[in-house]
Amino acid sequence: MSIDTIGVVGAGTMGNGIAQVCAASGLQVVMIDVSDAALAKGMATIAGSLDRLLKKDKITAADKEATLARIRTSTQYDDLKGAQLVIEAATENLELKLKILRQLDGLLAPEAIVATNTSSISITQLAAVTGRADRFIGMHFFNPVPMMALVEIIRGLQTSDATHDAVRDLALKLGKTPITVKNSPGFVVNRILVPMINEAFFVLAEGLASPEDIDAGMKLGCNHPIGPLALADMIGLDVCLAVMNVYFAEFNDSKYRPCPLLKEMVAAGYLGRKSGRGVYTYA
Ligand code: NAD
Repeated sequence: MSIDTIGVVGAGTMGNGIAQVCAASGLQVVMIDVSDAALAKGMATIAGSLDRLLKKDKITAADKEATLARIRTSTQYDDLKGAQLVIEAATENLELKLKILRQLDGLLAPEAIVATNTSSISITQLAAVTGRADRFIGMHFFNPVPMMALVEIIRGLQTSDATHDAVRDLALKLGKTPITVKNSPGFVVNRILVPMINEAFFVLAEGLASPEDIDAGMKLGCNHPIGPLALADMIGLDVCLAVMNVYFAEFNDSKYRPCPLLKEMVAAGYLGRKSGRGVYTYA
């Protein structure tokens, strides 16, 4: 089956980025959200992102117009009917995703593939509610989608080789570098990244070094573009804590114990950039 039309469910941070890269690579895109306002905001974000690429001479004005022209928006799920692949990028909520997947099932052609961009929900569990478990897969893009090269392709227990290969080929067509991962909490990148951040909070709590020195150590010693504590402020300390709690519960292993200082800071409302204060203070 050749893929020429992609459905994207959700026009938020990830959905509009996914729609943009699909359209930029020549695919027709139908982007769905619950409100016209969300769709308008998603399209404005895409236009802004294309403008930045235009200013840097990475694309031409004609490329920008052609990309925008390939994206259709709608609040009607029926408009996804012709898509050979739908990427679900709606709000991270299990009940909502189950509802959306059941809705897609009744609508799409039997051979169509459904992918989810979930960061934390089990691909195997989501696949099990669809009538197409072998044609269901995780496609985990990174934020901001147009800039980040990686896509984690996550195989549920039921995912077929044909589905995996089709989605891997699509990621390559989008100019991304796919890595194949078995379903497991955090997949690969967040499984390694978030415990590292948690460990940085232990190092801070033990008074081994100042926040600035911890971050400088990891930047200069490991060539990371940003230190783990500054990164925690960007991600949100509450998000980091929630992820550690999932690992702690799912693996039942004390090595995923959330750092008490991280918990304390979240309890204080020091959530990072979004609250004006985390490890660092923001104007
Ligand atoms: P977001 O809140 O920015 O966007 C979610 C969008 O889904 C909203 O526009 C909302 O209106 C829409 N939506 C809600 N219910 C819907 C429905 N029934 N049908 C269609 N649209 C609906 O969220 P986001 O950050 O883009 O995250 C989307 C998914 O991507 C989540 O599963 C998240 O875990 C995952 N993810 C997020 C990031 C990130 O850095 N933000 C990175 C990787 C993966």
